[in-house]
Amino acid sequence: MSTTDSSLFATFEIPPTRRHAETIDFMLSRPALALLPESLRPAARSFLAYLATLPGSAPHACPACESRSIYLAAPAGTGGMRRDSYACRTCRKRFTVLTGTPLHLLRSEEKWKPWMSYRFQGFSQELIANFLGISNKASMTWSRAFIKAMADYDSALHAWWQAHQSPEISELTDEAARALAECQAMLAGLRDTRDRRCPYCGSASVQVVTSRRATEYQCHGCQRRYNNLTETPLSHLQHIELWPEYARHLVLGYHDTELEQIFDLSKPLTNLWRQRFLQLFQARWPLLAHWTLWQWSRRRANPGSVPLA
Ligand SMILES: [Zn+2]
Ligand SMILES: [Zn+2]
Repeated sequence: MSTTDSSLFATFEIPPTRRHAETIDFMLSRPALALLPESLRPAARSFLAYLATLPGSAPHACPACESRSIYLAAPAGTGGMRRDSYACRTCRKRFTVLTGTPLHLLRSEEKWKPWMSYRFQGFSQELIANFLGISNKASMTWSRAFIKAMADYDSALHAWWQAHQSPEISELTDEAARALAECQAMLAGLRDTRDRRCPYCGSASVQVVTSRRATEYQCHGCQRRYNNLTETPLSHLQHIELWPEYARHLVLGYHDTELEQIFDLSKPLTNLWRQRFLQLFQARWPLLAHWTLWQWSRRRANPGSVPLA
């Protein structure tokens, strides 16, 4: 893509200061499964359907001996039983559809699918416990059970998901990597951009006044002066040469103390840059903002408390 495309700036708007709740709203606006690689989304979708339907389905075979000769021994409700109870004609064992699965001790099955769905959206188990009104302890137990169930259900999905749960820096999906490359190209090309429309009146009738640090323009429409960064989230930030690498580190989930060291920024500047770049991502590459927040939530203790600005 062209790095001098002035329409890049068309959608820039500096959003109002965001509070914690609005950050969560932004995270909730995430398209379901947007963080997962496209190739694994069908498996994730079908795993969610499995969690939703398994408790109400009937078993096909005995979990102990795999015999298909089984029968309904006692319907749910009999003697206070929560599920249909089956019996095997071959080994005579009794079981339910969940016997032998990692899910057999879990309750509140109507919340299983929403739980996993929020998890795929990048929310921490603490936040999900909050959303669904279950205890933190239950949320942790569910987390372990669902991971095991996922391993049984789809090993490729499980392998990718597990690799993205550790506090290590992990690989971007192809989709996120493409968005990042596009963003980095735009940032790298900022200094050479000479054709930006007027951000005040939209006029293309402009004159380049100087092209030192950031190209400066004079608008023939409204007579105002502006530069490549005016009215964008990056206005008045310095060290434009560091921006492409900074953006990459942010998306990969490096947090403030690391960024401070790597880019030799002061604390207030680290704070300012994070806010401004997240605003840029949100306006133009929301997936990058989602990745940043998600990676942070793994690499920090308390993900929900990271305000966008
Ligand atoms: Zn059996
Ligand atoms: Zn103008």
